[in-house]
Amino acid sequence: MKTSRQCPKCQSRKLWVVHKVEQPRPEGWGTNPLHVTSQYVLTGNTDVVSAATALVNAGFFEAWICAVCGFTEWYARDANNALAQLAAHPSPRVQYIDGETSGTPYR
Ligand SMILES: [Zn+2]
Repeated sequence: MKTSRQCPKCQSRKLWVVHKVEQPRPEGWGTNPLHVTSQYVLTGNTDVVSAATALVNAGFFEAWICAVCGFTEWYARDANNALAQLAAHPSPRVQYIDGETSGTPYR
């Protein structure tokens, strides 16, 4: 839909583009981006005055929405660095899969 500028379900060309999906802040006025994921990680700090954990927010979402049928495509933006950090955690809840072929391009 993003590249064709046409809904793949109903063929409509009437589309909404939400460049950054946001949600209301639970604590009050304002909005926050809807992050791809948010997880606490250990910082390695052991002294009492330093935080033992830190919150990692991975990127945000862009959404392309068909104005006729509502079909939606989601795109994760600005998330790769934070996701790589979370995937490197000893017990990760994020996994990276590289399905591209490796080795020499010629056989
Ligand atoms: Zn549609």
